[in-house]
This record gives sequence, C-alpha cells and structure tokens, in this order.
Amino acid sequence: MSTGNFAGKQSPTRVGAALCVQILCWVLLLGVQGLVTPLARAQTAAPASVLQQLDRIERRGNLQARDSVQQLLLLQSQLKPGSQEHLQLLFVKGSLWTRLREEAQVSALLTQLAAWPEPSLQPQAHLVGQMLKARRLALQGQLDAAKKELTGLAAYTPPSTPLPLLVNAYQMLGRLQSDTGQVELALANLHMALKLAESSGSLWRRAAARIDLADAYVQALQFDRAEQTVADALIDVEQDPDTTLLYSVHTMRGIVYAELGRTQLAGEAKQEALRVARHSGAPDRVALALGNFADFHLKQGNYLEALKYAEESLPLARQEKELSSEAVALANMGLAKIALKRIAEGKRDVLASTEIELKRGALNGAALGFKELGLYLEKSGDLAGAVDAYHQHRKLIDQVLREETMKAVLDAQANYDDERRDKELELLNRDMRLKNEQLLARNLQLKLWAALAGCVLLFGVLLGLAYQRIRKTNQSLAHSNAALRKQSERDPLTGLSNRRHFQAAIKRLADQGKLSGTVFLIDIDHFKRINDVHGHAAGDTVLVEIAQRLRATLREDDLVVRWGGEEFLIVVEATDPDYAYGLAQRLLDQIGAQAVTHGAMQIAVTASIGFASFPVAPQGLALSWERAIDLVDTVMYMAKAHGRNKAYGIESIEASDEAALLALAGRMEAAWHEGQVRLRTLTGPVSSTVSHEAAVPA
Ligand code: GH3
Ligand code: MG
Ligand code: MG
Repeated sequence: MSTGNFAGKQSPTRVGAALCVQILCWVLLLGVQGLVTPLARAQTAAPASVLQQLDRIERRGNLQARDSVQQLLLLQSQLKPGSQEHLQLLFVKGSLWTRLREEAQVSALLTQLAAWPEPSLQPQAHLVGQMLKARRLALQGQLDAAKKELTGLAAYTPPSTPLPLLVNAYQMLGRLQSDTGQVELALANLHMALKLAESSGSLWRRAAARIDLADAYVQALQFDRAEQTVADALIDVEQDPDTTLLYSVHTMRGIVYAELGRTQLAGEAKQEALRVARHSGAPDRVALALGNFADFHLKQGNYLEALKYAEESLPLARQEKELSSEAVALANMGLAKIALKRIAEGKRDVLASTEIELKRGALNGAALGFKELGLYLEKSGDLAGAVDAYHQHRKLIDQVLREETMKAVLDAQANYDDERRDKELELLNRDMRLKNEQLLARNLQLKLWAALAGCVLLFGVLLGLAYQRIRKTNQSLAHSNAALRKQSERDPLTGLSNRRHFQAAIKRLADQGKLSGTVFLIDIDHFKRINDVHGHAAGDTVLVEIAQRLRATLREDDLVVRWGGEEFLIVVEATDPDYAYGLAQRLLDQIGAQAVTHGAMQIAVTASIGFASFPVAPQGLALSWERAIDLVDTVMYMAKAHGRNKAYGIESIEASDEAALLALAGRMEAAWHEGQVRLRTLTGPVSSTVSHEAAVPA
C-alpha cells in the first residue's frame, strides 16, 4: 500500500472502469471560469508587502511551524485588527496551531473568529473557523466530520473571499473527498482549487494544487492524466523549488509511475522523496516516505527491505500521530511478513492497518488493504483467509466505489451524454425548422412566380421536389435520433451494453423485482498486469477482443454488459442447470483458449467466473437482481482465490428463506465445506502463451 502526501490519501483504488469524470469537472468549471478570472483581478487591493510576507510564512510554515508562528505574531502587530488581512493571518496561524496540536490555542482562535468585530467580514471569519475545524478533525482521523464542516463552501467566492483562503478550502475538501472515495466530487473541487491557484498568480500554490489533482486522477484510474498533471507540477516546482513541494511532487510521481508500471522511475521517485524528507528533518514526512518506499520494495519482491523500511516508519508515524502514515506502515509491514511466511503475525498487522483506516473513514485505504491482504494470503496458501479478505474488500468497494461513486460517476457521465445529445438533437431540430421555413418561403415565391407566369406545371414539379426534401430531412432526423439513443446505452470501448441499458433491460427478467434467469459475472485475471506489462492500449485491445468473444458465444437476446473496467455481466433467460454449466465452460474456453493479438504481441488472457441460476435451488428462493449479483460476485471471488481461470457456480443452497441464504452467503467458503452450499467448479483451458510476468509474492 502506498499513499500520497500531506492529508494522507490512498493511492490505487480500483474502481473497475475508466471514467470520464474530467469532462464533468470541466463542464462544472466552465460555469465558474467566467467568474474567477475577472474577479481575481479586483483582488489586489490589500497591502501587497504584508500579503507577500504572509504568503512566504504560509509556504515555509509546513516545515518550521513554531518559527513561523513567531513571525506571524510580529506581522500581526502591523495589521489593523478585524481587517481582512488579519483574518488571512489567523487562518495561517490556526493551521500551524492545528498541525502542532496546540488544542488550547486553536480553541481560543475559534472563539475569536466566532465573534469577529467587523460585520462585513463575519461570513469569512466563519469560513476560516470551519476550515480550521475541518483540519483539526482530519488530523484526528474523522474524515467524514471534517468534510461536513466544508459543506457551505460554494457560497464563498472572490473577491469578497481572498483567493489563498479559497484555494486552501477547495484543496482540503477535494483531498477529503478523494480519501473517502468520492472521486468525482474530488476531481471537480481540485480542478476548482487549481483554477483559483492559477488566478492567484502563485506558482507554489499552483504546483500544490496540481499534485493533489494528480492524486485524484489516480483514484479515478485516469493514469495518463495523472502523469501529465504531475509532470506539469514538477515543472512548476523546478522553477521555484522548496523542500515541501519537492517531497510532495516526488511522492506523487512515485505513485503515478507505479500505477503505469514504470517500476524503475517509480523507485527513483520514491527514493528521491525519502531523500528530500530525510534532508528536511521533518519526521512526519520521513515516516510517510519510508512507508511508501517500503511499498516500492514490496512490489519489487524485496520483502526483507520492505519490512525494514516499514518498521522504521511505524514508530515515527506513531510519534507524529499521523494516522494515515501509521496505516501505510502497518499494512506494508504485514504484507512483507506474510510474504516471508510469518502469516499470522502479518495478517494481524494488516488488519490493524485496515482498522485504523475504517475508524477514520478512509474507506479507500481500508479497501486497498483488504485487497492486498487477499492477494498475499492467496499466494501464501491461506485460501480461507484470502476469500475472507476479498469478501471484505468487495463489501467496502461496494459501499464506496461501486454503489456510490461508480453509480454517481456513471450517472454523471450519462447525464453529460444526455445533455450533449439533447443539444445535438436540438441543433438537428433547429436545422430542420430552418430548412422547412426556407422551403416554405421558396414555395411561396414559386407560387407567385407560377401565378404570374402562369406556369402551373413548373410549380407542381418544384413543389414535389420540396416535399421530397422535407421527407428526406425528416427521415434522416428520425435515423439520427435512433442512433443517438442507441449510442447512449453502449460502452464506447467495447460496444457492449453499459449499466444504463442494463438497468432498463433487467426489468424484463426481474418480474415484480425478483430475478428469473442465470447470471454470470466475469472478471479478467490479473488485468492490471496486462496493462503494466504491455501498456494500456494493449489492455484496451484485450477488453475489445474479450467483449467480441463473449458476444460470439451468446445468443442475440442474452444480456451482456460491461459491468466495470475488466468485469462483464451476463444474464440469460434460461435457468436449466446443465445449460448454465455448459455455457460457463464455453465462456472459459472462449476467453482462455487463444491468446489475444496486439501488434506483434500475443497476450494470454484468462478470467474467473461466478454464476448461479435464480430462483436458487433446492427451495426455489427468489432474489432481487441486486442480491443475485452480489451472490454471484461472492462465488466469482472464490474462483479467484482458488487459483483463477475457473468458473464457480452455485448448484444449491440449503436455506429456508432469504435471510438464511444471505447468512450462508456471508460465509460461503465455510458453508461449502460444511455441505450447506453446493458448488459446481469448472476449469479453463491451460494456455501455452504466458507473456506477462507475475510480480506478486512467491
Ligand atoms: P484480479 O485477478 O484479482 O481481478 O486482478 P486484476 O489486476 O484484474 O484486478 P484489479 O482490480 O487490481 O485491476 C483492474 C485494472 O483494470 C485496474 C485498471 O487500471 C484497469 N482498467 C480499468 N478499466 C480499464 C480500461 O478501460 N482500459 C484499460 N486498459 N485498463 C482498465
Ligand atoms: Mg475487477
Ligand atoms: Mg480482474
């Protein structure tokens, strides 16, 4: 596990689909873009030298908090009490007190802000109070509560609210949202922070905003954008370097390069971050950099090194009360131990890490911890432990990513698509109206001319032509309407149905809410490795080819959906068990028998499949389609944990009602061994072409 900078954000959360969130963000931003730039120009009224000094102290404050507080006290004596500059100064001071965990000072400051003497600045004093409270809560590990403090942020705009305050507030909110899995909101707010930072004309603020934005792009699995953004940040930092920014930008580069599979660059960047951190002497930074460096060594398979760095990080993180660094250190320590066969001990460490993350509401971090735990336990042969960890991971991912974020992002994207299509339709309609009017006008002319010239024949011919043209326009309009509607329900990469179409189509098979049919959930094995080893373009080719093979294996009216990034969902009407087993085997064979060609490369692909027919035998228990998919998801994960390239299907579950069935599903592996659940297990073809190497524990 590795994490980003300052507020401790988790790096790779797997949303399962590459999402066009930035489009939405830019749409949102377009709305405010016009507002920010002109208003920012009106922002320069305050005494420049004081604000410049304040800016310098804020920037340095990250490193030498106590010194900076002293300088602020000096500067404060030059300011008019109750003024806007005074307020800005208090924000910087309050942030430092918060960071130094000087509770009494922070409380006194909050009281002062709550009774701000200048009435016109009271709203801003309120905002500063909220930002300080949010910062304090975040440091205490209460991320959701911290986020709540910032809910009214949209009401504050320049020039009445100074840009440095707004940049800080949007960055803080964006980072909190990113940590708690609200990827799409995080992107929108961090774009806003960047926009405001650019307006402020401050290079270091822009760099800091870009680093946060790059992190959010990683969360949204948009690694190319993350790479571009962090590269831009590096250019900013190199123009005006300081320790804090150097540390943050290299940490972020390490994370982005690791995601892109550029191991060498990732290692260098993480090492550079550690070097800068050690040089700065700031123990909180050293703690995090050590934890991240341990992650790099884990990925390289150097478990002893990983353990060494994680163990060095842990006491520092605890001493600094940095919860996210503590979680990273514990997770990486535990994973290294598991790989070194100290399984029980390692498991305890990773679980201690996920507990910290869950307690502070960092669901992404916890989900990632369980996922990695599952992977390492699986490789160490603790299959029951692995299934359990995957299950926990899936539960969390469902909670944060799949149900909220994924749905919200997909909905947002669908809305955006709708808007775009509505606009296109409107344009087409307008075009047609115009043509109609032109035609009418021309007809009128023709009539006149015909009457005048007495050329009735010519009139008839022209009128006929005109009608033909109207009919043609109408036809092409109807045609494009149908095409656009169809397009909005397709996944652009694979051409399969998307979730939007699924929601509409599943109603046919889920009469009165209960599903009748057989569900298959297919997840490509080690797909991330395919991306890492062969590149994203090759990954895309694999997705397109697998989608094509699935279609070719299925009947016309079977429902095939791109469910997530490398996950496909199939629902067929048939519920005959033999048909289901046969189809599951055919799917495994179609996916795995032949390598996928991408340029000169031959890429071996396998998938794990979970499937079940509904209602569930032997009692014929009926379930909603959502529950049905969850159940299939659980057996799919069992297929993964038991070695991948397998299909696990539910034959029967000995339960008298839905509650009993769900209870058994919650402990599926055990229930299977005890005979309450019967599973059919099928194995995929053994491929001879394995061209991507495993980088997981032996
Ligand atoms: P497992 O066998 O456990 O399923 O491992 P995995 O690597 O397949 O699963 P994981 O969830 O770790 O990784 C899925 C990856 O799929 C992460 C993401 O980068 C990638 N991905 C998601 N959508 C796309 C896409 O549209 N194109 C490409 N090329 N990659 C994608
Ligand atoms: Mg997956
Ligand atoms: Mg997968």
